[in-house]
Amino acid sequence: MTSKNQPISGNDLARFSGPNTFMRLPFSNELHKLDVAILGIPMDIGTSWRSGTRFGPKQVRSESAMIRPYNLQTGAAPFDSLQMADVGDLAINTFSLSDSLRIIQESYDAILNYDAVPVAIGGDHSITLPILRAMAKRHGPVALVHVDAHADVNDEMFGERETHGTVFRRAHDEGLIQSAKTYQIGLRGTGYSAEDFTEAANWGFQQFLAPELWGRDLSGLGAEVRRDIGDAPVYVTYDIDSLDPAYAPGTGTPEIGGLTTPQALQLIRALRGINVVGCDLVEVSPPYDTSGNTALTAANILYELLCILPGVTYR
Ligand code: MN
Ligand code: MN
Repeated sequence: MTSKNQPISGNDLARFSGPNTFMRLPFSNELHKLDVAILGIPMDIGTSWRSGTRFGPKQVRSESAMIRPYNLQTGAAPFDSLQMADVGDLAINTFSLSDSLRIIQESYDAILNYDAVPVAIGGDHSITLPILRAMAKRHGPVALVHVDAHADVNDEMFGERETHGTVFRRAHDEGLIQSAKTYQIGLRGTGYSAEDFTEAANWGFQQFLAPELWGRDLSGLGAEVRRDIGDAPVYVTYDIDSLDPAYAPGTGTPEIGGLTTPQALQLIRALRGINVVGCDLVEVSPPYDTSGNTALTAANILYELLCILPGVTYR
């Protein structure tokens, strides 16, 4: 058995040096050799309030340098059995959202042709629509675990139908997702009307509002979602603003009263066993992240997602 790519150890090279890849994994563009392709999508032209997520991938990679390969809490050793690498950033067109979405979809078509599981560091949430288009082309409509303060189901914003606030209405309309196996977790905040969330509930989306989750251990919810999904291919999209701004202030559209960091870990860990075909972590805005905690938390959430990918060994 050939050994797999490993993050550079902090005992071999000081953690504050080395390549700015995710967890200091090797960089590679040889997709045919990879089980998992970690990539950055440095984009913020789909945002509606604060910008800055174009700097997300760079900062999340930087904070990921402290993460060690073995998950002491769950026993996951994600780099032992799966070949992973950082494939760099997508060359999006920062002057055109529509062109950027096209580039993302074409890049994902290529990654999925090689059967690599793509793990994206965003970027604002608009990146997830072209990703889901590619996913549906490859796998058919996917189940969706969507952790977010917002439902992102607007019909349009300023007449635009592709923004970070319209993603999951488009995904539903285009038949990219299994709407009855779509779970929106952490929703809260103010809206424009009483129907802001309920319309999507009528499409079949299962919504778990943050106030219902306050103070709860989310292991139970995660297990419930896992059983309900069964063996369907599932995409996990994690908006960092699902967390309370106390934990993740560095984001574009913060909402008070959110989830805690332990709840994020409980939820992801309880999903172990679902057939994840791809995932992303979006909406980290480093200019608003003065402590670096948001990017650090995002890096760890991505690591926890790597730990539940199909084929990961547990010690
Ligand atoms: Mn979102
Ligand atoms: Mn959000």
